[in-house]
Amino acid sequence: MELIFLGPPGAGKGTQAMAIVEKFGIPQISTGDIIRATMRSDSPLGGELRTYTDAGKLVPDELVNRMVKERLAADDCKPGYLLDGYPRTVQQAETLNGMLIQEQRALDHVLFLEVDDAVLLERVTGRRSDPTNGRVYHVKFDPPPADVAERLIHRADDTEEVFGKRLAEYREKTAPLVPYYERKGLLRRVDGLGEIEEIQARLFAIFER
Ligand code: AMP
Repeated sequence: MELIFLGPPGAGKGTQAMAIVEKFGIPQISTGDIIRATMRSDSPLGGELRTYTDAGKLVPDELVNRMVKERLAADDCKPGYLLDGYPRTVQQAETLNGMLIQEQRALDHVLFLEVDDAVLLERVTGRRSDPTNGRVYHVKFDPPPADVAERLIHRADDTEEVFGKRLAEYREKTAPLVPYYERKGLLRRVDGLGEIEEIQARLFAIFER
C-alpha cells in the first residue's frame, strides 16, 4: 500500500496518519519529522535546515528528495508506506514517480484533507508535539495525558506569524499537486472538518471502495 497524505499545514495529516499506518502495518514517513530529527542532531545540515523551517519556507527539493530516497530504501518500507508531508512540490512529485517506477511500485491513493484557513490557524497554534515519538496533541481538541504533557513542545514554526508564511508556501508550491494528482486519477478529497474519529471514518471509507 503506497499512500500520500496531502493538505495544508494543520489539516490533521499527522493525527490521521497514526490510525492508517496501524491498519496497514506500514510506516508513516513524515519529512517534517525527519527534518526536525536532523535539526536536533546539531550537524551543519541541521543548521541549514533550520534557516528554512524557522522562516516557514520549504526546504530545497534536492535535500528533501535525498532524505526520502534514503528512508524509502529501508526494510520496513517493503510492505508500503504513508508519505506525510511529501511530496510538497511538483518537482518532488516527479522525483517520487521516478523512485516508484524504479521499484516497480504504484501509488494507491493521494488522500487530500480539505480544511478552512481559520480552522488551520487554530489547530496549528494549539498544537503540541511529543519530541520522543512525533505524536501530536492539541490543547483544546486533543489534550495530552498529564504524564506526557510536561515533555511536549510547541514547535517554533507553529506560531501565527510563521503559519502565515507556511500557508503561502503551501498555496504557491504544494496546492498545484491537487490538479496534478487529479489528472492521474489518484486524488481522494476528504473533508477534514469535524471530530478526529469522524474524519478517520471518512478516510477508512476510501479503502473500502
Ligand atoms: P511539517 O512537519 O510537515 O509541517 O514540516 C515542517 C517544515 O519542514 C516545513 O515547514 C518545511 O520547512 C519542512 N518540510 C517538511 N517537508 C518538506 C518537503 N516535502 N519539502 C520541503 N520542505 C519540507
